[in-house]
Amino acid sequence: MVTEAAAPASHFQIEHTSTWHPSTDEAGRLTIDMGAIAANYRRLRAMHPAARVAAVVKADAYGLDATQIAPMLAGQGARDFFVAHLAEALVLKPLLPPDAVLFVLNGLAPGSEPLCAEAGILPVLNTPEQARAWYTLAVNKAHPVPAALQVDTGMSRLGLSEGELNDVLGWPSFAGQVNICLLMTHMACADTPGAPANADQMRRFADFAARLPSVPRSLANSAAAMFLPEAAGDVLRPGLVLYGVDPGAGGVPKMQPAIALEARIIQLRHIPAGAGVGYGFDYIADRPLRVATLSAGYADGWPRALSNGGATWFAGHRLPILGRVSMDSCMVDVTNLPEGSIRPGDCVELIGPHQSVNDLARQLATTPHEILTSLGRRFTRSYINPPSLHGEEAQS
Ligand SMILES: *Cc1c(COP(=O)(O)O)cnc(C)c1O
Repeated sequence: MVTEAAAPASHFQIEHTSTWHPSTDEAGRLTIDMGAIAANYRRLRAMHPAARVAAVVKADAYGLDATQIAPMLAGQGARDFFVAHLAEALVLKPLLPPDAVLFVLNGLAPGSEPLCAEAGILPVLNTPEQARAWYTLAVNKAHPVPAALQVDTGMSRLGLSEGELNDVLGWPSFAGQVNICLLMTHMACADTPGAPANADQMRRFADFAARLPSVPRSLANSAAAMFLPEAAGDVLRPGLVLYGVDPGAGGVPKMQPAIALEARIIQLRHIPAGAGVGYGFDYIADRPLRVATLSAGYADGWPRALSNGGATWFAGHRLPILGRVSMDSCMVDVTNLPEGSIRPGDCVELIGPHQSVNDLARQLATTPHEILTSLGRRFTRSYINPPSLHGEEAQS
């Protein structure tokens, strides 16, 4: 991975004529605007002044590298971080301030409780078994241990049912052994603000919360944080929107795009009418064409489903993908570009001002989360525009 020198925000533009260092950037480059992510975090704080805004940095901060993103957000004042697995939390713990709290959303695999407690990481207790193991650890240590507790309000994914919560709360001195510092649930339809499921889930959550009245509540992902103010709770759990991606259909006012993805041109050629392009000759030229081969394919998370349908961009021109996307490369039509305006070594836009993560997700009928988390490790990650420390961080 290459971390580049800071560039001012105004330089966050794809330089379509830039060429690449010969030993790096072989597949292409994922440019990550740290200032934009910081601004998105601060924007959420401003939208929800009464709540704590956590940062969801699971799956390596959605592929952007959590070891870069989490410490940067700590510098903006974030103190609550969510990952999915204990292994992810163990990597981040030493990089964060001592007062930062890391939660493990999936809870712990049996046997890993001592490691988690030793590291000062907090599990989310999702099942009676996970709650029992954490409770037993506290009893054995003769010392209370903190955790978050998740309840299932209708999504049938993770969390205790009402009956299970009643059981757990009935264990001898459970509340004295396990210090529940967050009560959470997850909303199934937050990206559809009008869905009746939202009100249903909030009502059920309120019933659960009545059992633990002094515990802070958390139920909002990015979509809820943006579109369902009544579901904000005490601790927001945004992921996607921090990274500048729209969690719904409507566009996210004032959130800044934070990533750009470029691939390198490896080869240019002219082909005659009738020539096939790519595996299976799924594309046959109907006239003479100029074709560029790009250094990114489905192994880089550049989806094979874009075959004969997707496009890339260069200098404001749309370059349609021809034929099937290969594992490490794909071909695009550059016939409409003036001769000499594009050369091997130039790079083209896969994600950027002309094509957003949401555009790709819509085209492929998937979530923007899947597009983002699939971006391959062969892209060089380049971090630009680091923010200055914010607020209380700047004064200490
Ligand atoms: C992934 C996740 C989030 C963040 O979701 P976004 O849509 O990226 O904001 C929040 N809470 C839980 C429990 C999650 O699994």
